[in-house]
This record gives sequence, structure tokens and C-alpha cells, in this order.
Amino acid sequence: MSKKCPYCNKVFENDPKRKGKCRYCGKTFVIRKEQALTINQGILVDSKKRLEYLNVEGVNQAKTLDELWFDLNQAILNYSMKGKFDDVASIYLNMGVIAETEGHYKDCIKFYLLCSHFSAYDMIKEYQKLGMKLTFDDLMKTENYMISSPVKNSIKELGLDSALIDDLGRLSVTPSLEATEKIEILKEVFSGEYTRLKNIPHDQKIPLRIKKPKKDIFQKPRVLPMEKVSTKKTGCTGCFGAFVGVILSTGAIAGFIK
Ligand SMILES: [Zn+2]
Repeated sequence: MSKKCPYCNKVFENDPKRKGKCRYCGKTFVIRKEQALTINQGILVDSKKRLEYLNVEGVNQAKTLDELWFDLNQAILNYSMKGKFDDVASIYLNMGVIAETEGHYKDCIKFYLLCSHFSAYDMIKEYQKLGMKLTFDDLMKTENYMISSPVKNSIKELGLDSALIDDLGRLSVTPSLEATEKIEILKEVFSGEYTRLKNIPHDQKIPLRIKKPKKDIFQKPRVLPMEKVSTKKTGCTGCFGAFVGVILSTGAIAGFIK
């Protein structure tokens, strides 16, 4: 069967085998499973494939990127409530890849930061459980996703100094700050303010422990109905709620970081 342009529906005469530009409408298409798809359809197909191993509920039904995004936000909530922070980290990594492909570079950096954050948290927790020692340097070596190429590319596209990658790595894995604080510091960086970023402790060889703060987003949240999550503030769930609010209000559905 001959392939058709996913935008203007004209039939291609030359049967393209890979990404190209339609000679009729000039738009860029990609080829997946012997079909020409729009860029967004391509991102959707690729993302679903990457997410398959996570078995994220609902993702396979997503027909558009917006639907996929909604499912991913939902999955973050579900996994957080189950305490599966490693899976939360994987979803953020996928969101980072999607954001970069779509040219939302600030969001790409934000999602990778959250990926490192939750990955580091999961790691510290596992080590604590086993009574083993873990240092900040260890985390920088194994849980720092800020050195990934989508982040490097986003830094470049935004015209930011590539030396920031190191600082952002430290910010992303440090257990001394909550996710919401890290996002605030990242926003400062985007607006050219680096004071708090530069003051992240970074030469810690001492074993890490997760603090037991009064408000800890990592404490198991009580299950709250969706509409109450972002506003309700009761004990430890309040902080978690505020954090989820951050995710939902800065996610793709509601608009990206400006
Ligand atoms: Zn076309």
C-alpha cells in the first residue's frame, strides 16, 4: 500500500522509508510501522513504546499526546501513593524526552531534574533499608540524569552556560531539598538568578540520610480525590498535594513553564 502524507493526504510516489518533508505541503513526517505519521503521532508512538515496560495503566489507550500526558500525570500520582519512586523517576524521564522532542526545553530540564530527584530518593531509601552507606558523590555518579543528552541540548538551545550542568546535577540529587524547592531554584536559574543554585552543598563524603522533616513529600500520602489534591493542606499530605499541584499546573495540559 502506498503511503499518504499525514497532513495533506496526498499519496507519496516515491514510498519514503524514513523521516522527510512532503513535497506537496512541505510539512515534516516520520515513518513508523510502514506508515507516514505527523511529528506528534511519531512522538506518541515512540513514547508508548518506551513506556511499555512500565505497564502504565491507560497509556496504551492514549490517542493523542495530550491524552498520553494526562495518563502520565495520573501514573505519577498512582506510583507516588504506592511509594514506587523509581517508577515515578522513569515517567519523568519519558516526559523529559517528549518535552525535548517538542522543543519545550525548560520543561525537559525540569522533568529530568525531577527524574534525578526521585531516583536519588529511591536509592537512598534502599541503602538505608539495607543499612549500607551512600555518599553524595555516589549519587552524583549513579543518579544524576542532568548529564543526559536531552538536557545538554536543552541547555544549549536556551543559550545557558553548559557549566550549569554540574550545578543542576547537584541540585537534582541532593536530599536536603524538596522537589518543590528544587523547581523554584530551577525557575530562578531560568530567570538568570544563580545564588541558591550555587549554594547547593556538593562535597559531602559523609553517608547520606533522608531527613525527617515535618513536611516531607516522600511520606506516604493519604489517597485524596483528584480535585482536592492541589489545595488541601493536612499534615504531610499537604506538602505532597502542593507538589502534585505543581506537576499538574506546570505540565503540558495546563501549559509549560514560561
Ligand atoms: Zn503533505
